[in-house]
Amino acid sequence: MDKHTEIIGREAAVEIIKDDIFRGRFKAAIFDFDGTLSLIRAGWQDVMYPYFVEVLAEPPQAESLQELEHVVREFVDLLTGKQTIYQCMQLVEEVEKRDGVPLTPLEYKHEYLRRLWERIEHRVHGLEDGSIEREVMLVPGSMQLLRELKSRDLTLYLASGTDEPYVLREAAVLGVAGFFDGGIYGALDRYEDFSKEKVIQEMIKSHHLAGEELLGFGDGYVEIENVKAVGGYAVGVASDEVHRRGINEWKRRRLADAGADLIIPDYSCLMDLTDYLFPKARNRWLKE
Ligand SMILES: [Mg+2]
Repeated sequence: MDKHTEIIGREAAVEIIKDDIFRGRFKAAIFDFDGTLSLIRAGWQDVMYPYFVEVLAEPPQAESLQELEHVVREFVDLLTGKQTIYQCMQLVEEVEKRDGVPLTPLEYKHEYLRRLWERIEHRVHGLEDGSIEREVMLVPGSMQLLRELKSRDLTLYLASGTDEPYVLREAAVLGVAGFFDGGIYGALDRYEDFSKEKVIQEMIKSHHLAGEELLGFGDGYVEIENVKAVGGYAVGVASDEVHRRGINEWKRRRLADAGADLIIPDYSCLMDLTDYLFPKARNRWLKE
């Protein structure tokens, strides 16, 4: 932990990476979905990593499985937060680099989604028929945070690299869809038509936002970089998707590298978080 890192609260709940950033005037917030709010797709890496390693082990110039695992993990994680198709496009390149004959990115994506769906189908159905409680499939404190931000009149946006029909359905079954008055956006088959960057540009345009009025929440590289690129405030959510408590150290490091201003494990530290993001003194000062 470097000297700029500060901890608030008993359990290191809120880790401030940069403390010199103006905050409190937020008018809109953008959320990533998987790992940031939803846990429905938790464990997707355990489907994508082995599948991609399996594909990369076939070409004539393939390295050992151990080396391939490292290669796959590197590029998959770097592209997390972007649409799934970008990971599949990289897979095509990696197959070609090893003198293999790849399928198309879309074919890889469909096979990956088929395998992932096998793993998570019961969660979506369980939420729909009520046999699984919503809380269990949400990053702790998500509902409370969304309510809190709405009570402060922020317009909320949801932008996910997961295909849009899935995001819409999963946000609905989790009971969070209604919070996103700015819209819910996901990956499209015409992938050039969607990016988190585009959604952010749209937010800025339609609400005439200054950078400091934009707040972003995400557990991946891409959304943190996109929010910082326009001068917004980026909250990194280093959620442990398996245990639903505590911090995922690996995510924490990646989020700090990506430029997150603050890092939290989840939203169970809501009071500390909102006290910090919306300083009372400054709010008073702003009303005068
Ligand atoms: Mg995510």
